[in-house]
Amino acid sequence: MSEERIGFIGLGMMGLPMVRNLLDDGYRVTVFDLDDSVVSRAKELGAASADSASATASRSDIIITMVPDSQHVEAVIAGPDGILEGLSAGSVVIDMSTIDPEVGRKMASLIEAKNANFIDAPVTGGVGGAEAGTLSILVGGNAETFERALPVLNVLGSDISHMGPVGSGHTTKIANQLIGVATVAGMSEAFVLAKKAGLGMQAFFAAVKNGAGRSWALETLGPKILEGDFAPGFMVKHMQKDLRLADQLAAKTGTSLPTSSLIAQLYRSVQASGPDADSQGHQALVQAIEKLSNEQARS
Ligand code: NAD
Repeated sequence: MSEERIGFIGLGMMGLPMVRNLLDDGYRVTVFDLDDSVVSRAKELGAASADSASATASRSDIIITMVPDSQHVEAVIAGPDGILEGLSAGSVVIDMSTIDPEVGRKMASLIEAKNANFIDAPVTGGVGGAEAGTLSILVGGNAETFERALPVLNVLGSDISHMGPVGSGHTTKIANQLIGVATVAGMSEAFVLAKKAGLGMQAFFAAVKNGAGRSWALETLGPKILEGDFAPGFMVKHMQKDLRLADQLAAKTGTSLPTSSLIAQLYRSVQASGPDADSQGHQALVQAIEKLSNEQARS
C-alpha cells in the first residue's frame, strides 16, 4: 500500500472510475463532491468521504480535482472551505480538469504560497480510458512535483507526457480538443451524406472504419450515432466549454480557428434544441448536421 493519502474532488463521469482504479491499486482515498449520490457510490467502492474540499485536503498528501470548468476549480481550491484552508506544506494538488491555463497558473501561485505544490494534468481518452486506467495525461509543472505525482498518474493513465511548466498540460489539452471535435464533425457529415445517398449505414461503417479515416471518435462514437445513442460520455456542455477555452487561447495568441469556430456554432444549435440537450454526449453534434439536410444518420 502506498504511503501517499489521496484526496479526490469531483466524482462525475471521469472522477468516479478514476477513484475506483486508485482504490483497486491500494491507495487510501478520501472523496468530496457536491452531489451526495456519487459520494455514496465512492464509499461503496471503499473510499472515505469528507464534508468539504478543505477537510479532504487536511487528510491527504496528494489532492486531485476533476470538476467541470475554471470557476469550479477556483471554488474548490480558493473558495470558502476550499483546499487552501486544509492544505499542509509539502502536499501536492493535481488539477485534472480541462480549464483555462491562466486559472491553473493562478491556483499554482496560491498553493505555492502555502509551501505546497501544483501540477495541471488534464486527460484525454474518455470514460472508457478512465475505467481502464489507460488515459493519456498531459502534465504541466516542475520536474520534482511531476516525479512525485507519477506513481499516482501511472495508475490512472498509460501515456503520461510532461509538457513543460504549469499551464502546459491545460494548453495541450485545449489544442487536443480541436482534433477530436473535427473528427466528430467530419464523421457526422459523412454519415448523413452516406444515408442520403442511399448507402446501408452498417455496411458504410464497416467499410470505412479501418481506412484512412480511422479514429477514436469513429470507433467509439460512430456505432452510438448509428443506434441513436446520445448518452454521455463527454457532455455537449463540456465540449462547448473546451471550444470556448480554445477560442480564448486563440484570441490571446493571435491564432485563427475557422473550423473549430464553425463547430462551436453547430454545438450551440444542439444546445438550443431542448432543455437537457447539452447533457447529451458530444456525438450529438450529428443532430445539427442532420437538421441541415433533413436526414437522420441511423441504421
Ligand atoms: P461531470 O460533469 O460528469 O462531473 C463533474 C463533477 O464535479 C460532478 O460530480 C459535480 O457534482 C462535481 N463538482 C462540480 N463543482 C464542484 C465543487 N465546487 N465541489 C465539489 N464537486 C464539484 O464531468 P466529467 O465528464 O467527469 O469531466 C470532468 C472534467 O474532465 C471536465 O473538465 C471535462 O472537460 C474533463 N474531461 C472529461 C472527459 C469525459 O469523457 N467525460 C474526458 C476528458 C476530460
